[in-house]
Amino acid sequence: MNRYPPFERLVSLYAVQPLRRLLGVQGDNMLSVLMYHSISDADESAVAPYYRLCTPPALFERHLQIIREKGYGILGLAEAVEQLHNGTLTGGNVVITFDDGLLDTYENAFPLLLRHGAPATVFLPVNFITDRTMRLRGQEHLTWQNVIEMAQNGMAFGSHTLTHRNLRILPRAVLANEIARSKVIIEDHLGITVQSFSYPFAFPETEKRLILFIRQCLEHNKYTCGVTTMIGTASASQDRFFLHRIPVNSSDDEALFTAKLTGSYDWLHGVQYAFKKVRRMVDV
Ligand SMILES: [Zn+2]
Repeated sequence: MNRYPPFERLVSLYAVQPLRRLLGVQGDNMLSVLMYHSISDADESAVAPYYRLCTPPALFERHLQIIREKGYGILGLAEAVEQLHNGTLTGGNVVITFDDGLLDTYENAFPLLLRHGAPATVFLPVNFITDRTMRLRGQEHLTWQNVIEMAQNGMAFGSHTLTHRNLRILPRAVLANEIARSKVIIEDHLGITVQSFSYPFAFPETEKRLILFIRQCLEHNKYTCGVTTMIGTASASQDRFFLHRIPVNSSDDEALFTAKLTGSYDWLHGVQYAFKKVRRMVDV
């Protein structure tokens, strides 16, 4: 395990955050869409903090408390995006999202969300959601019964495709089906309209034609908003189908989590984008 604090933590806490304070940029009228995956005590100490996907339940609860203590509002995703785009969003706001439809979203996160009166959106890789808990790709996923119970208690559900494959390498017709069919299946099970989509894996932000095609599919199927793994707080200047999110995991203690909420982690998107640009140049 690396004994030294990771570079992104040092820059966020000791360079960007003090500078933003100095400049009087305090995170007002901001929307942080938090991206969680697993809420569990799984040991990820061997994984670099940037790549971790687990958040212990006790830490997740602490995050909920910090959000409230700092006076942030917790909004549903569709509602927040609407307010962002019609200019009615005020103060600091947070949206809580979970990708991958893991069983621990129900077992560990859901009771805490209920206790703290916090809404959340869960993105389902639909083919992994069945009538009884199954272990797929080494992880246990939600059942439709879990999903229905959570929906009845105020949680929203969005599509995370059917098969959770890398959309970049799929034929266009298959990609379109992943977007269309996943929405219909969730709607059939829940009897409500699905509004949101979460792009799986790294978002292909340098591939404009692919993005345009995905956007057309989302619009055609009447999605109203979507999120990606692009790092950063969400803003009205971003495409409502491809909003940036703040990744959160076990390395987010109070200091780093607070810095992320106030926009002091957003700089990392520049690095993320540069890596994609270089990789694409090498790929081609
Ligand atoms: Zn995913």
